[in-house]
Amino acid sequence: MQWLPKTKLGKINLVLLTVLTLCVGMFLGLLGYNKTEHHSAGATQEDLDNDSILVKEKSPFEGISYIKEQSDTKYYKLVYPMTGEAAVDKVIQDAVYAKRDAFVASEATRLDSSISATTSGNYISFVIKNNEDAITKSVQTFTYDRQHKKLVTIEQFIDTEARLNRLSKEVRTEIQRQNEQLQLSAQQIDQLTDATWKTFEMFAVDGENFKVFYAPNTLKNRLSSISIPLVNIDKKLDTPVFRLNTNDKKYVALTFDDGPSEAVTPRILNTLKQHQVKATFYMLGSSVEKAPQLAQQVLADGHEIGNHSYGHENLSKMTGAEAEANINKANELIKNATGREPLTIRPPYGARNSELEQLSSQPTILWGVDTLDWKTRNAASTFQEVQQHIYPGAIILMHDIHPTTADALDSILTYLEQQGYQCVTISQLEGLQ
Ligand code: ZN
Repeated sequence: MQWLPKTKLGKINLVLLTVLTLCVGMFLGLLGYNKTEHHSAGATQEDLDNDSILVKEKSPFEGISYIKEQSDTKYYKLVYPMTGEAAVDKVIQDAVYAKRDAFVASEATRLDSSISATTSGNYISFVIKNNEDAITKSVQTFTYDRQHKKLVTIEQFIDTEARLNRLSKEVRTEIQRQNEQLQLSAQQIDQLTDATWKTFEMFAVDGENFKVFYAPNTLKNRLSSISIPLVNIDKKLDTPVFRLNTNDKKYVALTFDDGPSEAVTPRILNTLKQHQVKATFYMLGSSVEKAPQLAQQVLADGHEIGNHSYGHENLSKMTGAEAEANINKANELIKNATGREPLTIRPPYGARNSELEQLSSQPTILWGVDTLDWKTRNAASTFQEVQQHIYPGAIILMHDIHPTTADALDSILTYLEQQGYQCVTISQLEGLQ
């Protein structure tokens, strides 16, 4: 004990220093900032090369800490959650260390990881981003079930093949919706939405949304995840969705929004009749109010009618009750005109109201192929959009208020026939009948 101070003053100083250290320690402890243990066991010179320092910090979630682990030898800074459940923590730590080891063996000089967390019900999703030399190299996700104290895999979370198919289709719809920015090829979209567990294994839940993460640089514009409402992959929609798609048949559904209109709807009906094709019309309650005989004609020709709101309002900007009242008003008008209530809802602009979706028994239907007929108002271009983006199971978005859409329909139907596609209604495609 040579280093102990020999003078009385020195001893007092040492006592003061010890008390001060303890106080600071307790203070940091209260803050949840526990300075920690050294990671490596021995203290020989060789071992020091692998030395890392662990710091345990409070996370925003009760009972869960964040571990910050740092090494200056080959610089890395890791951060990951610890739940106190040994089996859970081992899985997380093993996965994090695997990335660390790959970094140590690589040419990269610096690894910084960051963590973010989101919750939905009993689930907490942790997303760890590993930045090597300031470039995101990988993303790791862990979804923890607080109630059952275990990690949940995508297979456990989604549970059934039918839901996996629905998930794949919903993500595809969302990617198609954003594809003007993303600029992905049809083949890339196929890969990113391939209906396997592996495709969606990096996932998180965030409030009312499900997020799938893709490897860095898979999606352009620095977007690394695609988000869809959880309600769209709800278990209550499980059966018998996709019944029509089970035998590799090439079914597609044509949909016409914003009508009915005196100028265009009769022309559309004519062409559909010539090709003996059934379609779905997402009608506005206000337009049905003006031309109930057109709605009757659509139904009499064997087509299906869906609800597209009363007057093309943005339902996502309303409360659940307001959106429900709007949809109910359109339901009533359509039922008064045709004797039948619409089977499904398509919210204007694809802007959903998740509260409404929980309240309503009518499923929400978006689309997979946007012909952009509303924007280009050009028959050739409307046809080309279908030709370039069509795929089995696709829902094609058109509008029976633009004459150019009526102009394009004959070539679209001829093309689909040549390609072996069969047109069905939405409720047939979704197995709702
Ligand atoms: Zn619309």
